[in-house]
Amino acid sequence: MKVTVNGKVAGSKESGCALCGATWGNYYDVICGERLFFCCDLCAKGFKNIVDRSGIENINSIEIKGNYYSGRRCVVSGEGRASSFFIRFSDDAEVSEFREEQFPRKQGHGQSL
Ligand SMILES: [Zn+2]
Repeated sequence: MKVTVNGKVAGSKESGCALCGATWGNYYDVICGERLFFCCDLCAKGFKNIVDRSGIENINSIEIKGNYYSGRRCVVSGEGRASSFFIRFSDDAEVSEFREEQFPRKQGHGQSL
């Protein structure tokens, strides 16, 4: 699974938290069979919510753009399709806002949002 946060690869200690891109913290969780790095358990919880809401089980890639305050736009790809949506989390990483959206996509670059 390839995880991109605001245009940068994430999901390992070196590359940063799979949800917010932060490189501090030391929390790991296995998601869809892969061990991903998160800065904290709340980011892991939020990430799992993104996976759940995508409705895709065999995920190839997840692109996340945004932050805690503005909410996040996510494009989850796998199983030959893509699910794109806006999601915002509450303080305890529960989903407080969710809507499916179609985002214009450009090949290869993450600047289209
Ligand atoms: Zn984080």
